[in-house]
Amino acid sequence: MAQEDLFKKLVAHCKEYGYVFPSSEIYDGLAAVYDYGQYGVELKNNIKKYWWDSMVLLHENVVGLDSAIFMHPTVWKASGHVDAFSDPLIDNKDSKKRYRADVLIEDQMAKYEAKINKEVDKARKRFGESFDESQFRSTNPRVLANKEKLDTLHGRFVEALNDSNLEELKQIIIDEEIVCPISGSRNWTNVRHFNLMFSTEIGSTSESASKVYLRPETAQGIFVNYLNVQKSGRMKIPFGIAQIGKAFRNEIVARQFIFRMREFEQMELQFFVPPGTELEWFKTWKEIRMKWHRALGFGDEKYRFHDHDKLAHYANAATDIEYEFPFGFKEVEGIHSRTDFDLASHQEYSGKKLQYFDPETNKTYVPFVVETSIGVDRMFLQVISATYTEETLTKEDGSTDSRVVLKLPAVLAPVKLAVFPLTKKDGLPEKARKIIDQLKFDFNCQYEEKDSIGKRYRRQDAIGTPFCITVDHQSLEDDTVTIRYRDTMEQDRVQWSKLHGIIQEKVSMRNLFENITA
Ligand code: ATP
Repeated sequence: MAQEDLFKKLVAHCKEYGYVFPSSEIYDGLAAVYDYGQYGVELKNNIKKYWWDSMVLLHENVVGLDSAIFMHPTVWKASGHVDAFSDPLIDNKDSKKRYRADVLIEDQMAKYEAKINKEVDKARKRFGESFDESQFRSTNPRVLANKEKLDTLHGRFVEALNDSNLEELKQIIIDEEIVCPISGSRNWTNVRHFNLMFSTEIGSTSESASKVYLRPETAQGIFVNYLNVQKSGRMKIPFGIAQIGKAFRNEIVARQFIFRMREFEQMELQFFVPPGTELEWFKTWKEIRMKWHRALGFGDEKYRFHDHDKLAHYANAATDIEYEFPFGFKEVEGIHSRTDFDLASHQEYSGKKLQYFDPETNKTYVPFVVETSIGVDRMFLQVISATYTEETLTKEDGSTDSRVVLKLPAVLAPVKLAVFPLTKKDGLPEKARKIIDQLKFDFNCQYEEKDSIGKRYRRQDAIGTPFCITVDHQSLEDDTVTIRYRDTMEQDRVQWSKLHGIIQEKVSMRNLFENITA
């Protein structure tokens, strides 16, 4: 299936099965804002728990925080967001569509890369086993020509970004003959800066009201509380503060479903370290975070690091963890070495000392910071993209059937088990309810008695329930039930008193955590 079709299908699936709805849909929706439905909210909570526990349970020097969305307006001056949190914007005069100039150029670079990879794939097929990829890449004229175009473009692009040279960004778009995907024309406006922060007013009368921002990242709430946490928790450096919360950005181009939203949620860790050790910690956190992703079992080849071409004003090293979505490799998480930029700047703007006294070395310093920042919604999309599966099944009589199944890791699945009485009579529903009453304190259970067992299985497959339990007449006699496993569709007959142990073993986060810490 073409990747584009796959993506459309999974967006439709999310809506049909109560995972994600467009916001205010009865009013035709609100661009780039989404609501999470009955299963979506459970999956989201499980993702957040996986992240939170991996930070605060697995690291004794990491503690949590829940800071307010509204903050003193000077926070955003000190952080640099008022002056520099903007994207380069360009409009096409014919289609009236708005784009990010940097994204148009990045897409153009991806095209050159795709051309090169196509040549390599063709040659690999032609030469078979004897194919020497590195020799081919360094000698094939078409590959070399595209590589040169790519390198030249890359060099110009990085320089323009580093110099914030908007004229040059426009010139690149013209020189590369980049067209608007909607109108097909090259009739572009100039490139301008567009600040992404939403603002509103706080205060009851117009005289007393003052402008506040909806936070565009959760990190600043951590920085302004650095001293509160350090002192009240008697924290010794190195230590970290973890936070999960909403962030808001007035994104220029909102697209790709919940990948780029205007209201979204972040899970951020700010890790405070002695100056001079930050690049070592940056490396450590890169490894920890990659292991966290890979532990989910979606395939190591689906992830890569992408080092930043342009470092943000606060960073001395930065990388993204990218996941291969149906629309290509894209960022799910950023890892940044933020130096002492934030604390030093808040110290200057607030006039309050934000320092650490190290009793071992007798030195006082402003700590350096390594940040890991991941979007809950992008992580959610990663999980759905990795697990949405369409299968054709061959029945015993040779005929075929199909099913859509979300092969969610059992620990993340919204519903852990569904219990079905085979029929609605003979005391089977009562027995099924009894099983739920035993298990509901520990697992999210669902009871279903409508339709055939086959149809009930399909519904649970579509929402990703890992276990289905069927209660039949034999259950009344010997207290056994069948447990059906979602991915293999195999069924076992087990004593119902064993169910708790079987399910607990599969849904425990411990399995993932052991992988991360190994
Ligand atoms: P991008 O380059 O895609 O705009 P970014 O580099 O600006 O992302 P960061 O500021 O590093 O993103 O934010 C950290 C994380 O927050 C990102 O890796 C992403 O998972 C998430 N995130 C950022 N912007 C959005 C958004 N508009 N919608 C959903 N998630 C987002």
